[in-house]
Amino acid sequence: PPGAQQWVPPQPRDIAELKAAAAGCRGCELFQDATQTVFGRGAEDARIVFVGEQPGDVEDQHGLPFVGPAGRLLREAVDDAGIDPAQLYITNAVKHFRFEMRGKRRIHQTPGPTHITACRPWLVAEFSRLQPELVVLLGATAAKALLGPSFRVTRSRGRLMPWPASAQHPEDFPVAEIQALATIHPSAVLRADNRDAAYRGLVDDLKVAATV
Ligand code: SF4
Repeated sequence: PPGAQQWVPPQPRDIAELKAAAAGCRGCELFQDATQTVFGRGAEDARIVFVGEQPGDVEDQHGLPFVGPAGRLLREAVDDAGIDPAQLYITNAVKHFRFEMRGKRRIHQTPGPTHITACRPWLVAEFSRLQPELVVLLGATAAKALLGPSFRVTRSRGRLMPWPASAQHPEDFPVAEIQALATIHPSAVLRADNRDAAYRGLVDDLKVAATV
């Protein structure tokens, strides 16, 4: 795929301008079957940026990230961790919903490396606009997209890490003093056998983020 770069405005005034431009992105084939681009949202002066994987079914229909069941759970966890939601911006590594049809149902499919690479310019533009202090990576897809394919969330979750020393393509990210923290994706809590323990683990990781 050609990638999103040619759709990214060179000097965006604000997130709203980026979001408007992303609505017309044709940087990879995912726009063809999805309903719409789901861009990030939150405070323009956010200190913490959350990065998930991709919009889900509900997000695809509403055009907003983290409005489905996983989003509700994440908001609860953010609250329980003591993070001020007014300091947050939340987005995804890939901005169109990737799915396959099974009967009448749209089943989530993990985005591939080509989709992540194609969509990266939007993430870079968001970071460069927001200049956050901390990036929280939700789940393996986001963490690998930004920290490299060998990164293991299970091994390194809940720890503040310097950025961009460990990042993939650090030159992409024009943010000097940023930290990263990886944790599980809230949808993994919803799928977990022991949901209470998984939820507590997510909140514990986010409490570390709250110290920044
Ligand atoms: Fe563009 Fe990203 Fe959507 Fe692909 S997934 S069309 S790169 S916004």
